[in-house]
Amino acid sequence: MGVTAVLGSAAALLARLLIPTPEYVWLRVLLLPLTALFAYLIVRAPSVRAYGAACMATIATVSLNSYLGALGTDRPLMYFLPAAAIIVLSTSFFWITLGQWVGGALACYALFLPFVVDHTASRADTVFSLLYAAMALVTGFVSHLRIQDYQRRAFDQECRLAKLSVTDTLTGALSRAEFLHQAEEAASEARASGAPLTLLYLDIDHFKRLNDSHGHAAGDAVLRGLSDVLHQALRDSGAVGRLGGEEFCVLLPGQDEEQARTLADRLRILLAAVPRPDGRLTVSAGVAGLRDGQSVAQTLHRADLAMLKAKQSGRDTVCVAG
Ligand code: GH3
Ligand code: MG
Ligand code: MG
Repeated sequence: MGVTAVLGSAAALLARLLIPTPEYVWLRVLLLPLTALFAYLIVRAPSVRAYGAACMATIATVSLNSYLGALGTDRPLMYFLPAAAIIVLSTSFFWITLGQWVGGALACYALFLPFVVDHTASRADTVFSLLYAAMALVTGFVSHLRIQDYQRRAFDQECRLAKLSVTDTLTGALSRAEFLHQAEEAASEARASGAPLTLLYLDIDHFKRLNDSHGHAAGDAVLRGLSDVLHQALRDSGAVGRLGGEEFCVLLPGQDEEQARTLADRLRILLAAVPRPDGRLTVSAGVAGLRDGQSVAQTLHRADLAMLKAKQSGRDTVCVAG
């Protein structure tokens, strides 16, 4: 919008110089850097309000430029008409709110009005100008609403896709990729600060048996229940990811292995309250802290081995990695 405003004003200025008795040439030349400045502010605007103000100021200077150019011509109304129509139509795509669109149209048509009420204009010029101005106004209004609707839906879709890519749709836990990404970031911070970081690997016991006896919908309900309990219990103290199937992992920044083991035991008790149609819900858990010189993948592998040790010890228990 800004580039078009500056180039359009410059082109209109040059065109006017080809017609005899150009008026306000220097004033119009001085308006060009002002238009460029407002156009620059559009790009740098820190808020919707600032964006609207910068757009409005750009339109006001462009409209004033056209107004001054029309002065001194034999039919100023007809000279200004294309500029007014183009400004209102082309800017309709850029406004963020309806209020901004109204403000922009007013800024432009306020300078159009003196020519409309000018009694020296012929009746035909006045009638046709009003008709085209009204058509530009209506078309600009409809275009603005359409583009706004399209932008809103594109924005909603973008948000939905962004959420889908980082969360597991069944349980609301982080997807495996997002969890590992967050774990890598937490590991970098832990290495820099020297604070502990621990991974807690959870696997539901005899989950296949539940699916086989009560169907996968019952299994899905348990997975959701487990994820809900983990999120409620942990809140902001740890991120929960679903690594796959009935295996979850919790990222515990600032907690060492002993603290994580205590937490895991508390979680086992809380998880027992999740309804499971074939009995009590139990999990086997493995705890592994990030060690110097070890990667997240190596820590996750140690937590997995600890979880397998918990399985071999009879399930429904927590083991700390060696
Ligand atoms: P263990 O105590 O040794 O962990 O035994 P298990 O039955 O829990 O483990 P196993 O690996 O034998 O079975 C896991 C089952 O999880 C198999 C698979 O059908 C089921 N599963 C994986 N993803 C889903 C899911 O999204 N929904 C449901 N309902 N079941 C799932
Ligand atoms: Mg498993
Ligand atoms: Mg299992």
